[in-house]
Formats: sequence, structure tokens, C-alpha cells
Amino acid sequence: MSRVYNFSAGPSMLPLEVLEKAAAEMTEYGSSGQSVMEMSHRSKEYQAIIDNAEALVREIMHVPDNYTVMFLQGGASSQFAAIPMNLGIKNKKADYIITGQWAKKAADEAERYITVNRVASSADKTFSYIPQTDSSMFDSEADYCYICYNNTIYGTHYTENKIPDTKATLVADISSCVMAEEIDVTKFGILYAGAQKNLGPAGVTLVIVRNDLITEETLDGTPTMFKYSIHQKNGSMYNTPPTYGIYVLGLVLQWIKDKGGVKELQKINEKKAKILYDFLDSSEMFKGTVVPEDRSLMNVPFVTGNDELDAKFVAEAKANGFINIKGHRSVGGMRASIYNAMPIEGVEKLVEFMKKFEAENK
Ligand SMILES: *Cc1c(COP(=O)(O)O)cnc(C)c1O
Repeated sequence: MSRVYNFSAGPSMLPLEVLEKAAAEMTEYGSSGQSVMEMSHRSKEYQAIIDNAEALVREIMHVPDNYTVMFLQGGASSQFAAIPMNLGIKNKKADYIITGQWAKKAADEAERYITVNRVASSADKTFSYIPQTDSSMFDSEADYCYICYNNTIYGTHYTENKIPDTKATLVADISSCVMAEEIDVTKFGILYAGAQKNLGPAGVTLVIVRNDLITEETLDGTPTMFKYSIHQKNGSMYNTPPTYGIYVLGLVLQWIKDKGGVKELQKINEKKAKILYDFLDSSEMFKGTVVPEDRSLMNVPFVTGNDELDAKFVAEAKANGFINIKGHRSVGGMRASIYNAMPIEGVEKLVEFMKKFEAENK
């Protein structure tokens, strides 16, 4: 078997141990005589699988009891609408900080339903930093304030000191940093993440909502499937949930727990990111595109400054087993996504390869 180092932004690498466990249980889960894929979601066996996944989310992220953990469908992108529909009900307005394409899409979608106030943006410098805000910039009547915690495409992330100082409920898209670094759940009203970056296969979205924000009341016309209250009441099983995806997510969560949890993974992630950023800072050919203080631990964009050289690098990297290193189609250059499942040696070998490429293409 030969596995590549996959630097894809998502869907992305899964831990080999998880894939092997899923493979071993593929045709028969436990002594159930069936695959998880074939199980009724109303069966006792499946209930145990989803309950275990929820319990692990709570344990790993230290989710307090006054929050509901849900496994939903429609990707992170469906939350762009669900959030205003469920939270934008009092004053029908919200503050958004535009730190990249995902935040922009979320704001544009919310604007279809409520008034959106774009408080700050880093569009002026191609989203290469996180804007500093202060409490005076926020609307005291906003129903919530929205941020994208880690900007997958541009490679920036929030640090504690830039989290908005607002009285409004904080909402964060943590799709590309969930369980990669410690996040204090209690600071947020909603945290959500598409699974395909750091948690498992595409098709499941983890949504964590503080209970006082879940009410029967939603904006007029809100589809039943977009109501948090429906999913809360039905334990994420109002309809058939993505059963197999939730099962694999449970395996990934167990892997995270076995590794020592987020605290230990964050140390490894910081080490991995440092190896790559240190090299970018010392290289004459490759340059990181993000200001040092806002650099993501998960997505590391870089360029040579020459499109042809970029393309040559991407092609040679692929031929050498480092795949999906091309930057997002909207920004070009390169991007190495180094999620939890990427081992340190994958990053070390990539840097070795970059050094060799630099020497050969001076
Ligand atoms: C990938 C991504 C999304 C989109 O997720 P889908 O599940 O494809 O809808 C949204 N936000 C962020 C930060 C992402 O990285």
C-alpha cells in the first residue's frame, strides 16, 4: 500500500487508524451482522453510535450541558441561512466580519433574510490578516455577531485578542479549525463545522448551539429542516441522518481522544505549522502570504511570485507524493492544509522537497 501526503483543504486526510478500523468493521459492525451503512437509524445499535459521537464531542470540546450538539446535513453552507433564520428574529439584524470568501458568502446569504452590517473586512489586502475591531464598532441591537474563525482559503485565523468585543451573541464558523486548537465554547452562542476538514467524511455538519438560542420561533418561511428546535427535539434524527458519516466521525473523535485530546493535538499542530512557516520565512523563493500574527495552524498559503514556477512546483510536488497543494482557484499559488490527520513527518518531508526544488530552480 502506498499512501500519499494529501494537503487538500477538504475533503482531506483521515487518520490511517480510522480508515483501517472502518475497513475492519465495513461488512459487520460488532456482532450486528450488518454494516453501519445498512442499519436502521432507529435501531438500538445505531442509537449507541450517535450517542457515543455526541458524548465524545462534549468531552473533547468541553461543551457545557446548556448547549445542544447536533449532526446536520447540507454542509457548513446551509448554516449560512440557518443562523439568520434561527437567531435573526428579534431585531432582524446582525454584525459580520468579512475575513474571506466563507465569511462573505455567509453575510451575503444572511442578507437575503435580515439586515447585515459588515463591521470590518480585510478585503483591502486580499484577506491576508484579521481586522482589529473594538466594541464601538458593533451594533448594540444586533441579534448576533458572526466570524469565520479560521479562513481556509486565505490561511488566517483568529486569536483570543481579536475575538469581537461585542455584547451580541457570538457565532463562529470553525469548519477548518475544529478540534485543532482549543476554543472556549462558552464564549459562543453557535459554533459549527463541516466535517470534511478535520472531523470525517463530507456530509455531516457539527452544530453546537446554546440552548437559550433554540426556540420555536424562527423567521417566517424557515424550512422545517432549518429549524434548530426540530433537530434538538429529535436528537438529530428528525429525518435520516448521514448515518455512516456520523459513525466515521465517532471513530475520528475516539482517535483525537486517544491522542490526548485537543490540547495535545494543538501542540503537534503548532509544531507542524512552525516547521513550514520557519522555512517560508527563511526561503528566498517561497513566501507566506499572511501576516505572521494571524497565521493559521491549518492552512498555509504560499507563493513564489511567479505563476509558471508555482505550476512547476505543484506538478513536481504531485509527482513526488505531495498532492492537492495547489492554492484555491480564487487566489492561485500554493496552499498546504495540514489538518489533525497530517503527521509531522508529512510536513518535514514537504519542506525537504521545497528546499530541493528551490536549489534546483535558482
Ligand atoms: C469548507 C468550508 C465551508 C463550506 O463547507 P461546505 O460543507 O462545503 O458547505 C464553510 N466555511 C469554511 C470555513 C470552510 O472551510
